[in-house]
Amino acid sequence: MAKKQTESFNLEDVRPRLERTAFVPTLVAVTDDPDYVDDETVLGVDDLAAAKIGGAPFLSKEAPAPKCGKCKQPLRFVLQLRRSELPPAAQATLADELLQLFWCDDCQSSGGAEDPWSKGALIREVALGEPIAPATANLEDEDEDADADALSVTFIRDWREAQDYPSPLVESLAAALEVSAKSEATRERLETLAEAMDEAELETLDGVKLGGWPRWVSEPETVKCKCKAVMQPVIQLGESAVVVGDGGTTWIVACPACGKKAYFCQQ
Ligand SMILES: [Zn+2]
Ligand SMILES: [Zn+2]
Repeated sequence: MAKKQTESFNLEDVRPRLERTAFVPTLVAVTDDPDYVDDETVLGVDDLAAAKIGGAPFLSKEAPAPKCGKCKQPLRFVLQLRRSELPPAAQATLADELLQLFWCDDCQSSGGAEDPWSKGALIREVALGEPIAPATANLEDEDEDADADALSVTFIRDWREAQDYPSPLVESLAAALEVSAKSEATRERLETLAEAMDEAELETLDGVKLGGWPRWVSEPETVKCKCKAVMQPVIQLGESAVVVGDGGTTWIVACPACGKKAYFCQQ
C-alpha cells in the first residue's frame, strides 16, 4: 500500500503503529552471604531450574556443562528462561522448557560479541529432566576462602505487560512507520515526531524484556538468519540489568521462518 508523501506524523495519529507490547519481569537479586545483603539483594539460595541470570544452570546428561567452541574452556552461564512462565505470546518462540545462554568471556571480549554465530557463546533449549550436579572444581578453594564464591543470582519472575516504543531516532521511526527517510521533508517530520515522543515520555524500555522494540546502544541493526529471514528479538538483556562480556546490551533473536536462535550485542 503506497503511503502519501505528505502523510502527517502527528503523534496521536501514529501512536498505535508505534506501540508494541513488551513484557518485563520482576528481578530478585539473591545472595547466600549476609555481608552482601542490601536494599536490592536478599538472602536466599540458588534454584537450578529457575528462570534467572547467574547462579548455577540446570544441567542434565543430555545437556551437560558446555565448553567454548573456540578455546575449549568451560563457558560461563549467563541466563536461563522457563518457557512455562513466559506470557503465552512469547512461549511459541521456544520448543523446550529451558532456554539457556552461555558465554566465553575470553573469546567474546575479543570482538566475538559482534558475530551472532560466534562459537564463543551457546544458546540452547533444554528439556527439564533429571539434573546432574554442576562441576565442583573449586571445592578446595571454598574451604579456604568461602567469601570468594558467595552466591550471586538474579531470579526472573512475574512477567507483566508494558507498552514499548521505538527509539526516537529518525531511522528507527522511519522503519517502524515503514516510510523512507530519504527526503529532507520526511526527516524533519520524523524529528518533530521524535520530539513529541520525548515530551510524552514514550520510551524504549531498558533492561530485561520480552518482545517490544530494541533499545539500541548505537545504530539500529538487523540480524539475518542463515535462511535469510530477518530475525526478531526474543529477549533483551539491557546493561542496567545484566552485564554480558564487555557490557552493552545483548539480545537473543529468533528466526520466524526456521526457529534458529542467535544473539547479538551492542556496546
Ligand atoms: Zn573461548
Ligand atoms: Zn531461519
